Amino acid sequence: MADKTPRIAIIGTGFSGLCLAIRLKQTGAGEPILLEKAERLGGTWRENTYPGAACDLMSFAYCFSFEQKTDWSRKWSPQPEILDYMDHCAEKYGLLPHVHFGTEVLGANFDEATGTWKLRTRHEGREEVIEADALVSGVGQLHRPVAPDIAGLDEFAGAQFHSAEWRNDVPLAGKRVAVIGNGASAIQFIPEVAREAAHLTVFQRTPNWIIERGDREYTDGEKRRYGRHRWLAKLYRWLIWARQELVFFPVMIGSPRLTKRLEQMARDNMEAHITDPAMRRALTPDYPIGGKRVLIHDDYFPALARDNVSLETSPIVGANAAGLETEDGRRHDFDVVIYSTGFDTNQFLAPMRIEGLEGRVLDQEWKDGAEAFFGLTASGFPNFFMMYGPNTNLGHNSIIFMIECQAEYILQCVRRVAERGLRYLDVDAEAQRAFNAKLHHDLQRTAWAKTASSWYKTAAGKITNNWSGPTIEYWWRTRKVDFRDYHEVA
Ligand code: NAP
Repeated sequence: MADKTPRIAIIGTGFSGLCLAIRLKQTGAGEPILLEKAERLGGTWRENTYPGAACDLMSFAYCFSFEQKTDWSRKWSPQPEILDYMDHCAEKYGLLPHVHFGTEVLGANFDEATGTWKLRTRHEGREEVIEADALVSGVGQLHRPVAPDIAGLDEFAGAQFHSAEWRNDVPLAGKRVAVIGNGASAIQFIPEVAREAAHLTVFQRTPNWIIERGDREYTDGEKRRYGRHRWLAKLYRWLIWARQELVFFPVMIGSPRLTKRLEQMARDNMEAHITDPAMRRALTPDYPIGGKRVLIHDDYFPALARDNVSLETSPIVGANAAGLETEDGRRHDFDVVIYSTGFDTNQFLAPMRIEGLEGRVLDQEWKDGAEAFFGLTASGFPNFFMMYGPNTNLGHNSIIFMIECQAEYILQCVRRVAERGLRYLDVDAEAQRAFNAKLHHDLQRTAWAKTASSWYKTAAGKITNNWSGPTIEYWWRTRKVDFRDYHEVA
């Protein structure tokens, strides 16, 4: 990488890819090559277009710190506005000429002799090879929707789709609609669907803790004020961040006082709308708050209380041309089945084949559950970085904070290789092992460890997705790369 501007291949144009590309351009540390399989940027905010899609972190903290948006329309920003913001960033920072749209990365091999990555890509049906000095994954953790494994579902005669692949061409007005799942996505669109469906049945397997969102529009006066006094917008942002760190993080690690308080808030929220004792029981989780994603919404319980909505808790055992069958022997007929059954979250970069030193394949290294060094690097895969990689998801705060930390870390590594004329940097296997030993020890104190299953962990129970501490700890420990943790190969 010594004599030329390093070429940094970045997979994906979600918040991760955009953040790193902007910082590379701002600092001149490298030339971003953004590889995007779709024809449009935006990652998860491009894919999830279901009605009611919105961020479940407050708007002012859900944008880059270096590009603070001050005129959000609502406290909890709707998906189209977030996508617009991403477009705005790409345009303002001149990223579009760097994006290869319609280019899917099939795999990548590290060439030790030259210290470069060779990426196999597919564009318009043709395979091409792109060479880069460093490879960065910005593919996120929630990009491969999972359909439920229900016998007979393919025989269903009506329309069916996953919430992350919303079908705007399927009318729901006056229809009998089933929704399978009640996670963060489902509770956002259920109130919207309930308004127009003839009847909506929500199939719930596990109840969730849901607290009130308190959403509202920002007034024109507020927007003007934040625009005029940008320090006020920044202050607001950091207050949101601090509240999430000080109130929500302790809940993730089981603070008895805050956990009790938040669980009570969630119970009060539910009981304010649901009066039927049996339904209240069905909607009360038996695991600690925080064990699965804490959900935030104002309209979900009111929607469940509607006459045209029913909650079904008998497990689905099969499907037929007319609808679904439940364990208690009942048949439920529908026109449309929507599954909001989550994503394949533990596979990370799969199905891409990432081959490092001595033919080591990332998927194979991770067969017992992904792990990395601060979620950023993996031993045996030099000059390869991940953003929002293993163990960097949060249950309590803004992922954009983590993404910004990761971009700064990668910039330091890229600069180090260039300045020292190195062929590559490879994280030391023992440093990675020791890091993970402590991480998994710390994770044992969390609500995630005390909850049977969630998208944060593998079927065998290894927590592969979440960071173990507050975000300030992640920032502190990644703010300056300790190159003693790396092999520097000239
Ligand atoms: P999810 O949290 O994984 O929820 C999937 C739901 O489907 C769960 O209720 C699950 O039940 C249920 N389910 C799965 N398979 C099923 C089956 N075979 N039969 C019946 N039910 C089944 O997925 P998600 O709601 O799409 O949310 C994923 C993550 O995306 C969230 O946790 C959040 O981090 C993110 N998200 C963020 C926002 C935002 O505002 N920023 C919005 C939406 C989503 P069990 O609980 O029993 O497994």
